[in-house]
Amino acid sequence: MRIDIITVLPEMLESPLGCSILKRAQDKGLAEIVVHNLRDYTDSRYRKVDDYPFGGEAGMVMQIQPVDACISRLREQRHYDEVIYTSPDGQTLTQPMANRLSLLQNIIILCGHYKGIDYRIREHLVTMEISIGDYVLTGGELPAAVIADAVVRLIPGVIGDEQSALSDSFQDGLLAPPVYTRPAEYKGWRVPDILLSGHAAKIADWRYEQALERTRRLRPDLLGEKPE
Ligand code: SAM
Repeated sequence: MRIDIITVLPEMLESPLGCSILKRAQDKGLAEIVVHNLRDYTDSRYRKVDDYPFGGEAGMVMQIQPVDACISRLREQRHYDEVIYTSPDGQTLTQPMANRLSLLQNIIILCGHYKGIDYRIREHLVTMEISIGDYVLTGGELPAAVIADAVVRLIPGVIGDEQSALSDSFQDGLLAPPVYTRPAEYKGWRVPDILLSGHAAKIADWRYEQALERTRRLRPDLLGEKPE
């Protein structure tokens, strides 16, 4: 899978893309993530990519010309399945959405900044808008890193069996059961006996019951139930 990220702050993505799973996926050749500095695509002599909003609102707006130039250049090179704009008013990122995106070949993620982007970009160039939650961040770089992480870790081979993404929360509509490691007892706080029993089938049943109980208690909406 290839992910092209368009941003005015490439340096903000260096750390999230340069370590842990996102780095490992790139090292293994399972994901290619390319960051583009929007300023490299502007016609402006001063490398400006924003301007005042029509109508006199406060703040600056990202201009259409550099965004169009960058997306057009990328589209000349390959087909893109989605051009995603990170936006607080987009569809909220969910695990099913991450699952679907992980099956795609090439995606672009456009990071907004300032007051947002010229709305014509959203009308004519963007195919999907994703929010990472009901709050407003300063720019789209952290959302782009969140989307890339959520998607890339689902590509087969990126994470090992021992950390299987399939047993994580939301994959089967439930929250994950609790996990423990050594020591089995610490300050008198014991790990549940069942996990030390060596009885695989009973452990699997226990995990399922725990997942169901935690989901019912913490996120009844996932089971189609109303909170008490
Ligand atoms: N004026 C915009 C509004 O009220 O919807 C907010 C602009 S915000 C300061 C700048 C940029 O950060 C946005 O264009 C978007 O790309 C990104 N952003 C902020 N919050 C986000 C969120 N919750 N999810 C995804 N992207 C977000």
